Amino acid sequence: MDFELSMEQEILRKTVRDFAEKEIAPVAQELDEKEEFSLETCRAMGELGLFGMFVSEQYGGQGMDYISYIIAVEELARVDGSHAATIAAGNSLGIGPLYYYGSEEQKRKYLPKLCTGEYLWGFGLTEPNAGSDAGASRTTAVLDGDQWVINGSKIFITNASAPNSLGVTVMARTGTRDDGRPELSCILVEHGTPGFEAKPMHGKMMWRASNTSELYFDDCRVPKDNLLGVRGKGFHQMLETLDGGRLSIAAMGLGGAQGAYELAMRYAKEREQFGRPIASFQVNAFKLADMALEIEAARLLLYKACWLRDQHKPFGKLAAMAKLYCSEVMGRVVSEAVQLHGGYGLMKEYNVERFYRDQKLLTIGEGTSEIQRLVIARLIGAI
Ligand SMILES: Cc1cc2nc3c(=O)[nH]c(=O)nc-3n(C[C@H](O)[C@H](O)[C@H](O)COP(=O)(O)OP(=O)(O)OC[C@H]3O[C@@H](n4cnc5c(N)ncnc54)[C@H](O)[C@@H]3O)c2cc1C
Repeated sequence: MDFELSMEQEILRKTVRDFAEKEIAPVAQELDEKEEFSLETCRAMGELGLFGMFVSEQYGGQGMDYISYIIAVEELARVDGSHAATIAAGNSLGIGPLYYYGSEEQKRKYLPKLCTGEYLWGFGLTEPNAGSDAGASRTTAVLDGDQWVINGSKIFITNASAPNSLGVTVMARTGTRDDGRPELSCILVEHGTPGFEAKPMHGKMMWRASNTSELYFDDCRVPKDNLLGVRGKGFHQMLETLDGGRLSIAAMGLGGAQGAYELAMRYAKEREQFGRPIASFQVNAFKLADMALEIEAARLLLYKACWLRDQHKPFGKLAAMAKLYCSEVMGRVVSEAVQLHGGYGLMKEYNVERFYRDQKLLTIGEGTSEIQRLVIARLIGAI
């Protein structure tokens, strides 16, 4: 066994860490406060090569392994959840399905634009009445001559209504299978297509500088060739995409936990009560020890899941475990990190307050903790 990262991976970590500290940390709090998506930092992340990290160079990507991409998400999340979300959704959910299932023509048309970070692409699975039960989607796409006619709506779609959003992959019912269940397919819809509207959603508790959207399709017509991959394979494509996406949510949990732990450590060593640093009280030192322990365990689990993926071995079970564990570790870490900050931890002026809010999405998005436990229980044969 070899637990060392390669020199390239270590350099990447340092590069992204420096970038996040210099370019994102100074604006993160203000963007969160204003609930503002920043085109400027999105483009800067693109210039650094953070979009299309696992896409081969022939389509404009960086041709890196998955673990490198996960390290980048982890380092962004160490500083800010919203920017990590833009990259995680941009790569795993936006670029991923086009890269893995797109035709040669679709890949050449979209990937080079998305891999620069100039443009973003959304992943439209969730609907108002179909969240965890995504197979119950009601959006329909009917073939009319050479066009799909799409009707329905999607909700909570990341990166789909930012100023630089180019389009979205939509899962829709395209018919009924022989067994009577809905036939689900994925279709690409570009912004500017008549009948397609994307509205930013406001009032989020967390990831406030990340773009989240409601999508509406009203007799929206797109060419027949906008079908992604094989007709009827849409649900399968979405589930496979979520396996990879879960690794990036896990990376956000790991990075967020690391960031909150570092804030707590610094504060606990500086803050004095009863004439000594609060870290010197054993109860607080043990809290920091527990944080360090859980973060280390989370990192090992996540990196093993990524290693399996890079080795082209089945990784779905470990992806669900890593997503569940890393997001819940961050929950425990941020809670104690705020506790160590006392009253100051509840003030917006202190970054730890934002970490506390940003964590909550991680146990909900891309499959809730309950759904991860269901997936794991199925994969270990318990049910
Ligand atoms: C900021 C944000 C960004 C998002 N980005 C995207 C995106 O880019 N693309 C996309 O398609 N979606 C996206 N989502 C949607 C997200 O994936 C869903 O919110 C999530 O899957 C849960 O669905 P739901 O909100 O409808 O909750 P529900 O499915 O209604 O769940 C409610 C509760 O019931 C529980 N529950 C449901 N079914 C079961 C069961 N069988 N057993 C036990 N408990 C159960 C859940 O665990 C949860 O606690 C995003 C959401 C948010 C908030």
